[in-house]
Amino acid sequence: MTTQVKRKVRHLHHFIGGEYVPSKSGKSFDAFNPATGEVHATVALGGKEEIEQAVSAAKDAFENGPWPQMSVSERADILRRIGDLILARREELAQAETLDTGKPITESLTGDIPRSAQNFHFFADYVQSLSEDVFTPTPNERHIVVREPLGVVGLITPWNLPLYLATWKIAPCLAMGNTCVLKPAEWTPYTAFLLADIVSQAGLPKGVLNIVHGLGADGAGEALTRHPDVRAISFTGETGTGRAIMAAASQTLKKVSFELGGKGATIIFADSDVDDAVNTAVRAAYRNQGQICLAGSRLFVEESIQKTVVEKIVEKVKAIRVGDPLQKTTEMGSLISKEHLDKVQSYLEIGNKEGKLLTGGERIKELGEGYFLSPSVFTDLPANSKLISEEIFGPVLPVVPFATEKEVLKTVNDSQYGLSASVFSKDVDRCFRMSKGIRSGLVWVNCWFARDLRTPFGGMKSSGVGREGGRYSLEFFSEAKTISYKYKL
Ligand code: NAD
Repeated sequence: MTTQVKRKVRHLHHFIGGEYVPSKSGKSFDAFNPATGEVHATVALGGKEEIEQAVSAAKDAFENGPWPQMSVSERADILRRIGDLILARREELAQAETLDTGKPITESLTGDIPRSAQNFHFFADYVQSLSEDVFTPTPNERHIVVREPLGVVGLITPWNLPLYLATWKIAPCLAMGNTCVLKPAEWTPYTAFLLADIVSQAGLPKGVLNIVHGLGADGAGEALTRHPDVRAISFTGETGTGRAIMAAASQTLKKVSFELGGKGATIIFADSDVDDAVNTAVRAAYRNQGQICLAGSRLFVEESIQKTVVEKIVEKVKAIRVGDPLQKTTEMGSLISKEHLDKVQSYLEIGNKEGKLLTGGERIKELGEGYFLSPSVFTDLPANSKLISEEIFGPVLPVVPFATEKEVLKTVNDSQYGLSASVFSKDVDRCFRMSKGIRSGLVWVNCWFARDLRTPFGGMKSSGVGREGGRYSLEFFSEAKTISYKYKL
């Protein structure tokens, strides 16, 4: 059983024009703790009306407020303060994130929350390093390229890394002088609610960040994507949702940036440091219960070492401590929801029919009503198995043997997704060939999840449209304008 204490059910409001406000309709929905199945909060249910209210507040803040007129360094000071306050409230935010998601508290404390603060600190510094291009084709002409804010921007985020991904968008969006409306995932509203208090305390002018809770399709999310005063949408979530948002946003010709689904490949060659590769492959497959777009969710192993690698993987997977997410020793918590558990279990059924389950794949009843699933490993699957091709977004790892570099490259690329891959080998030439050949936005060589926030982040094919990170984010959240001068000399 989990040791979580019963807490008071709180109410989470929207944040519009610098104030916490209830829904006009008075309607709300429940937020669950997935580790117990209990309701921990009721959340204001926003729709078209609340989006109208929030966009109007953001528009007013953009057109009449101080934010877009401030100097870059003044804006950066406020962003830095937001980052500092996130760190100062790290414990509280980590508890909230774990309560909403079921992820281990250690991950929230050492990953999600400090990285959310880092997003603000990073963009506060980075925006100040932007330079402008000036072209001088003749002595009496100057063409200056300036970057200007877009206006009101819509930000739509998923539940797997709630505060981390929201701040990944909010920080560069605000750094460029925009105002915005955030629609957090309906499963995980809590840290966005707390962020509203933090930005107020940091001195962010009213209406610059607005937060509307609610559903996606037919709800607040869709209303945001259709609103004519919203100039751009930055979205992270499922590929299918990306398609729907692109169709809706096309009506008002919004600029879009999409971070979508993935089916990351981990590729282990016989000439790699096998122990290191195995450790990393396990982390890549099961971190955050496998609910990471960048997860190494299909493992390719060179035939000659397949037996050894599989034995080592299974041993490590059996040792993963699944349990109460609030315990610091827990390594894997619960899945996000009953619906998601059902979806992951439907893949387990397919795996059991088609292949060989080596460990895990069971709902852990001893942990109570929470959505806990033991991490699983499958082998002997047919090449066209859905376990190998579809994004499961859970702790399920199919292992596939390969004979040659050429063969594995072809198989890895034969996917609708193209977000990330990891290659393990000590042969530098092979690593280079593989990293050039893999059709994905990110390739890690002998590592996984190594990130520098200045680099472009995003996917090819059905994994995304555009890139975020460093100047790629700042370019997305702005318009380039050319101002040309002619002088009389
Ligand atoms: P989702 O697409 O179901 O929901 C994401 C957000 O979109 C939520 O806020 C939801 O309310 C909203 N939404 C849903 N339908 C909408 C619509 N028609 N119009 C407007 N908004 C709508 O995704 P999810 O289940 O929350 O997250 C998991 C998915 O996110 C996985 O596919 C994962 O790979 C992906 N993801 C990608 C990245 C990346 O960087 N590429 C990062 C994290 C998660």
